[in-house]
Order: sequence, then C-alpha cells, then structure tokens
Amino acid sequence: MVNIDKTKPVLVTGANGYVASWVVKQLLEEGITVHAAVRSPENDKKVGHLKQIAQNTPGELKLFKADLLTPGAYKEAMKGCELVYHTASPFITSVKDPQKELIEPAENGTANVLNSANEIDSVKRIVVTSSCVAIYTDAIDAVNAPGGVLTEKVWNTTASLDYQPYAYSKTLAEKKAWEIAKAQNKWDLITINMSLVMGPSLNPNQTTSESMNILKMMGDGQMKMGAPKMGLGLVDVRDVAEAHFKAGYTPEAHGRYITSAHNTNFVEMGLTLADKYGDKYPVPKKALPKWMLMIFGPMVNKLFTRKFIRNNVDIPWKADNSKIKKELGIEFLPMKKTMEDSFQMLIDEGIIK
Ligand code: NAP
Repeated sequence: MVNIDKTKPVLVTGANGYVASWVVKQLLEEGITVHAAVRSPENDKKVGHLKQIAQNTPGELKLFKADLLTPGAYKEAMKGCELVYHTASPFITSVKDPQKELIEPAENGTANVLNSANEIDSVKRIVVTSSCVAIYTDAIDAVNAPGGVLTEKVWNTTASLDYQPYAYSKTLAEKKAWEIAKAQNKWDLITINMSLVMGPSLNPNQTTSESMNILKMMGDGQMKMGAPKMGLGLVDVRDVAEAHFKAGYTPEAHGRYITSAHNTNFVEMGLTLADKYGDKYPVPKKALPKWMLMIFGPMVNKLFTRKFIRNNVDIPWKADNSKIKKELGIEFLPMKKTMEDSFQMLIDEGIIK
C-alpha cells in the first residue's frame, strides 16, 4: 500500500509525447505540480501545448531538460517527487539501427530513471508506461497463450533485435524495470501495458508516435483498397491517461495492468469510420486477402514480411482487461468514439484533406 501525497510534485518523463501529454493534462487538472522532463524544453512547438494547458488548470508545470541516455539526467526533476511516471521511450518502427534507436533508450533509459529513484529519498512509487508488446509480438502469440487469451502473467518471448525490435525494446525495458524494483524496497513499481493507443492528440503535428502514422494511413488513401485483417487491441488515449492517474494514486494498485479496451483488427477499426467519413475519405471498408498480402505486402512495406503476415493477418487477438477494470475502476470508451474523435482531429488539423 503506497499513499501518494497530492501536494507533492510528480515527475513525468517524455512529458511532451502523445500519451504523456494527456497524463500531464489530467495531473494539472487535479491541481498537481508536474515536473515535466523533456528533451527540448526551449522548443515551444514541442511544449507549447503543455504550457497552454497549465494556464487553464489549477496545477503547476515546471519544465526540465533530460535525455534517457545521459546518466542521472532525471535526478534534478525527481527531487521532492513521491510519484514518477516513466513514459519516455521511442515508439517508432522504421529504424536502421534497432540497438541504438530502440533498445538503448528503452532499456538503458529505464535503468537510468529507476536507478536515480534509488538515490532520491522522496520517491515512493514508479509507474512505467509499458506496452502489450511486452506481452506478445504477433496475434498468433495470443492464440498460443494459455486459454487463447493474453493476461498479465504472459511475457513476450518471440520478439528479437531482428524481428519486431520495438516490441523487443519494450520487453527488455519492462524486465529491467522489474529487476531494479525487486532489488530494493523504497518504492513500488506498477506497469501500464497498453495496446495500440488511438484518440485525439494534444499536439498532433509534433509527435512521431506510430499511433498517428497508423491513423493517417486510414484516411490518406493508403488503405483505400482495404486493410489487413490483423488482430490487435485498441485503447483510447484518454482512458490511458486515467489508467496512469489511478495507478499512481490508488494505494493498493500493484503489478502489471493490461490497458486495452477492444479486441479488434484494422478492418473493424476502419468500418467504425465508414458511417461518418466513408463517403468523403478513403477509409478502409474491407479486408485485403491474406494471399494477396503474402505476394505484394513485402514489396510495399519492408515491415510487412511474410512471417509477419502469416502470424497476424486473419488471426484474432484477445487480451483479458478485467484486472484494470476491477482494481482501478477503469471504464473504457466505445471504439466508435475513439476512432471518430481521432479522425476528426486529423481533418481539423488539416493532416488529411
Ligand atoms: P511519442 O509521442 O513519440 O512519445 C515518446 C516520448 O519519448 C517523447 O516525449 C520523446 O521525446 C521521448 N523520447 C524518445 N527518445 C528519447 C530520449 N532518448 N530521451 C528522452 N526522451 C525521449 O509516443 P507515444 O505513443 O506517446 O509513446 C509514449 C510511451 O507509450 C512509450 O513508452 C511507448 O512505448 C508507449 N506505448 C505507446 C503506445 C501507442 O500506441 N502510442 C502503445 C503502447 C505503449 P521527443 O518528443 O523529444 O522525441
């Protein structure tokens, strides 16, 4: 049981990111002082939206400069904080050097933040933004899980430096977090294991989050012939923020939390947009045949290997989200709302025309 004092500041690493910005917003709305650690505090394109939110909310925003790869970089921002949210980690899939671009910032960065917490007396709880990809790589892993369902007990054993290195980076990072947590008893660790996050961005033109790229593909014509019926989980970014908040401030919260609202696939996601946007925009309305993807997929996108297609397309994905609903009282938004709000944001921001 860990009671976090709401009058104490809270550190958020990677505070300007797509997911973290919503976490910061919720903290500021609750009147909490946020120590926002970012790489470029001087760049208003990156942090202007956070400053604006702070002006209209009771909380206070203090910006700090920190990089995951600089040892001790987060110590200054951590001083006086009982609660730390570690969200910073690259969410990119198109990389040349996965070791340098993904594994090192994810794994070493997590060690950097958590080891610093051992040296800062005030820290009592750390919430790490992990991912469902620390649990599985491909939809087939869900089929092969006990009972055909992913749970908090399952770990990803199939990603590697050569295959789905982003999933590998998140797996190594979360394992490192638990290893460091278990070697001490000053603070407790909670992980939020989200599936694919969708929903409006608070700073849509600046994030490199893969979430935005996937969303754009649904409206820019890349999926006009249809989408791969690839099993995956989906969750709204606003529910993800709520999950982070409750994980931090619920004394009994513990362990991993699968944070995924819907067991779905790309075709279903596209179809939720068809009613409202289908006449005007080239949203996907049907499934692309697997045989066709096997032939043409690898030519169109180098991430779309035959192995990836075999293990994901036309394979259902199922995860059990009962722990977070029961223990943290999370109620998830309907998929249609998540998808429509996301798509409307792309239109309003002129990102798709
Ligand atoms: P995002 O908008 O790209 O945010 C990533 C954040 O990490 C940014 O603030 C980025 O800073 C920071 N970062 C990257 N490399 C860094 C480094 N070397 N030093 C310091 N900061 C660094 O992506 P997101 O979708 O919000 O992802 C946030 C977290 O959620 C990540 O841990 C990701 O793995 C996890 N997650 C995301 C999803 C999803 O569907 N979006 C699903 C599951 C888990 P800059 O802005 O300076 O680059």
